[in-house]
Parts: sequence; structure tokens; C-alpha cells
Amino acid sequence: MTLGEARARLMSTVTAPAAPAATIDVRKPVDGSVLATVTVDPPERVAEVVDRVRAAQPGWEAIGADGRRHWLERLRDWILANQDRLDDLMQAESGKVRADAALECFYLLEAINFWCERGPRYLADEKITPHNPLLRTRSAKIVYTPHPVAGVISPWNFPLILSLGDGIPALVAGCALVIKPSELTPLTLAELVRAWREELGAPDVLDVVNGTGETGGALVDECDFIQFTGSERTGKVVMKRAADTLTPLSLELGGKDPMVVARDADVERAANAACFGGLLNTGQICLSIERVYVEEPIYDEFVERLRANVERLRQGDDGRRYEADVGAMTSPAQLEVVAEHVEDARRAGARILTGGRRGDGPGDWYEPTLIVDADHSMKVMREETFGPVIAVMKASDADEAVRLANDTRYGLGAAVFAGDPAEGERLARRIEAGTVAVNDLYMTNYGVLGLPMGGWKASGIGYRHGAAGIRKFCRVESLTIPRIPQPKSEVFWFPYTPRRRGIVRRIYRFMNARGWRRRLGL
Ligand code: NAD
Repeated sequence: MTLGEARARLMSTVTAPAAPAATIDVRKPVDGSVLATVTVDPPERVAEVVDRVRAAQPGWEAIGADGRRHWLERLRDWILANQDRLDDLMQAESGKVRADAALECFYLLEAINFWCERGPRYLADEKITPHNPLLRTRSAKIVYTPHPVAGVISPWNFPLILSLGDGIPALVAGCALVIKPSELTPLTLAELVRAWREELGAPDVLDVVNGTGETGGALVDECDFIQFTGSERTGKVVMKRAADTLTPLSLELGGKDPMVVARDADVERAANAACFGGLLNTGQICLSIERVYVEEPIYDEFVERLRANVERLRQGDDGRRYEADVGAMTSPAQLEVVAEHVEDARRAGARILTGGRRGDGPGDWYEPTLIVDADHSMKVMREETFGPVIAVMKASDADEAVRLANDTRYGLGAAVFAGDPAEGERLARRIEAGTVAVNDLYMTNYGVLGLPMGGWKASGIGYRHGAAGIRKFCRVESLTIPRIPQPKSEVFWFPYTPRRRGIVRRIYRFMNARGWRRRLGL
């Protein structure tokens, strides 16, 4: 199927018949042309969609982990058979280069297998041995029960990974799932959900709603749990909205990730890592390396290597876009932020070693940019840039580098490069962030799906991946069941009498005092 056919088919599913309806044009970042138009789902339609999948959820829960695995594995196989077409659509709506676009399906394939295998283990009943010997006559267990409907609200930088990718554990847990993708990049997800519904004929527990804040807000009102990924600003709005219905939520927000390079680090690997970690996906990653602190003795060598690396990168649209390293920016508004941060740094005295300009011609392009001699008076060191920009600052020693790395409102990720991995670990443990890699990059942490990933400080609340990444989609029931026949009443129950109170008091004293004299009250 060609891209044009895919788009035509997509439009028949993403365009609702209701009229007059608001619409959103989805643009191609490489040239600014309109790729498709999607209909905005107003709050009433969001409520309808949630009600519909809610009605199907008990059946989905009832088919059990194996039944759900069957459908998710069919989706996995469908992705494998259609990846080229999905990558085409992803490139068209996001401006990613081919290698970056392909990451999205790779993640989904791995996530489906991971959650189908590990999820049931994370959600198995957990037996708890009561600490109180008197209660050992009961069996006690933790039971995980899915929230009926989970909502996922996602950003534009990874339109599949951060939407369906974050929702797979919800489906594995037995929730129904409604996703509101970013209004900038709804198309590839819509195609996957269409395949789930139409080609696979899978249960009616997965759908999308399209729109901006009004649609997202309505989803918060209707769902039983919300997984939000996006900016700190919107995250706060979503959290306030969720307070109205006391809806639990998980927030994955912005970052300003530092890299610390110690004087004995492997400078070549560190410079390669800074280049890739800062410019992968055109730097539009919450975990992107945005600030680098390098110890003074190796600063010049590091900067020279990094400059050479950044200058070698190929950016652009070669027609097929298979070979470029750095793509266009997905969001025109974010491009303005990037340009403003670079100008602010330039005005404040930083040196732009390479890049620092918008691309020529139509589309949303910004050159891969290396800024040196930056300092903390500059936006590029303080605020999330979220684009193809790396800023480097000299640190007198590792302690200063760690202090500067922690001098931020964010706490999402970080990297530490040191010659001695043990020293690297000591530095890493002092960094205030949820994801820290030693002599490595965040994608290693992200790739270990058993490791929780979440932000400290203004970078979020809650975790994706690991046990927490699926248990959050569940309500916890603590269950006790007698293991032996029980008396008609208990000494703790009514009626209260002085004698019973005395017995209870002696029991608690005996159990909790330490030393026989105290236990016996002698
Ligand atoms: P954004 O906050 O503007 O939008 C995120 C989503 O929220 C979009 O789908 C948007 O339509 C929706 N939304 C907007 N207003 C809303 C409202 N009032 N109620 C409900 N939903 C609403 O973020 P963005 O510009 O799409 O994405 C970039 C941001 O995402 C960056 O800050 C980046 O760091 C962050 N991000 C974080 C992670 C992470 O895992 N921590 C991952 C990727 C991106």
C-alpha cells in the first residue's frame, strides 16, 4: 500500500461524520505541506468512546493474560508485516530521519513481548506473611485489579512509543485504553488502532480521540487512570483537572539532562555519546543530553572531538530520507524555543562552534548546534531546549560538575563518564535524577524494560517500565482469608470490658516489648 492510499484509508477512520466539526491540519515538518486533516473529538464524543470501551472491558479482563496475549501478539505480527508503511507515515508526520522513525516500531515489538511475558508475573497475587503472629491464622495477599479504562495523553516527539507504547502494559493488565495523541502527530497511531479494530478484529478495548486541550481534559474527566507525557506546564493542568474526580495519574514531564565528564574519562567515547545523546531524534527527547559539564584538564580535547562529530552529521531530506542523521523539527513552536535559546546564549557571550541557524527553504529545520563556554545565566543551561542543541561548560572538578548538574528544577536523566566505573557510580548516586547512566546513555536504561523510568522534581510523578509501570494501571486489593476455622467472636470485638481490655493490653505488651521482664510486665 502506498503512503497516499494509507492516508486515504486513515482519513476514513480519523474523520468523524459529525458536522460542523472542528478539524486540525497535520503538517509535514520537512516542507510544511498539509498531510492530512483530522476531526477534533469534542467532550461528548470522548465520553461516548470511553463508555463504549468501558462496556467491553469486563470481557477483556475475563479472557485472562493468555487471551490478551493472543491479541497483542497478533498486533505485534501485524506491525512486523507493515513496518515500512508505518515508518513512511511516521517520517511524514514527524520529520524524523528513517533510523529514528524505525525506533518507534522496534520499541512496540519489544514492549509487547516484554509485557506479555513479565506483566502477568508483576501482577500475580503477592502473599504477605502477617508480622503479627496472632494474624498468621489468616492468609494475606495483594491482588492487582485493572482500572477499567486507562487514558493515555501523549506528546509529539515519539508518537507511538509514548502513546501505544505506554498503553501496552494497561492492555496487558486488563484495562481498556483510550489514547489522545498529540495534535501534531496523530496519524501513525490512528493507523495502528485502525488495524487493531478492522484488520485484526480485536476486542473493542482500544481507541483514539483526537484534539487539543479540550479533548485531553475530557479524557481526564472520563477515565479511571491517566498516563500523561508532555510538558511540565500541561502536566500541572492535567493534575489539577484530575483532582476534580480524584483520578490517579502518572506524569512524565520535561527534562534538562546533564552529562558529567570526569578528567579520567574516555574522552572519545564521551564525545561520541554527547553527540548521539544530544542529537538523536533531532534532540527532541525528554532524556536528551542538553548540558555537558567537562572537567577542565580535558575540556579542550572534548570540545574539539564533539565539534568534529557534530560537523560530520548529515541533516536533511534526501528524497527517501534513509541516510540522513538529523531530521526536521516536529513542532514549529518548539523550533522558536530552540532559536530563542541559541540567540540568548549568543547574546550572553557563549560561542556557537557549529550550527546555530534555521535551515534554508520551507519546513521546520534547525541545524545541529554546539554551544561552548555556556554558563547558568543562559536559557540553554536552565530551560528545556528540546531541539538539536548541545551546550558545554567547563567545570573545575567533578564536585563542581555534579553541583552544576543538580542546579536545575528538573530531574529526569543524566549521564556520567569517568575512567573508573566505581567513581562513576559514586558521582551518579549524587545526581538528582530518575535515570542515570555511567559511561553510557539513557537509551540503555530505557532499553532495560525491567527498570523503572520516571522523573524527580519537576520532571514528573510515577514511573513507566518495571513492576511500577504496570501496577500503576491497577487498583490494589488487600485480601485476607482465614486459614483455620474462626471463633464466633474475637477478643478485640465488642463488648469492651475491663477484663478484655486487660487481655488485649497484655498481648500487645508481650508481642512488642523487648526483654522478658518487660514483656511480662515485671
Ligand atoms: P504538551 O504538554 O504541550 O502536550 C502533551 C499532550 O497534552 C498533547 O497531546 C496535548 O494535546 C495535550 N494537552 C494539551 N493541553 C491539555 C490539557 N489542558 N489537558 C489535557 N491534555 C492537554 O507537550 P508536547 O509539546 O506535546 O511535548 C513536549 C514535552 O513533553 C516536553 O516538555 C518533553 O520533555 C515532554 N516529554 C516528556 C517525556 C518523559 O517521559 N518524561 C517524554 C517525552 C516528552
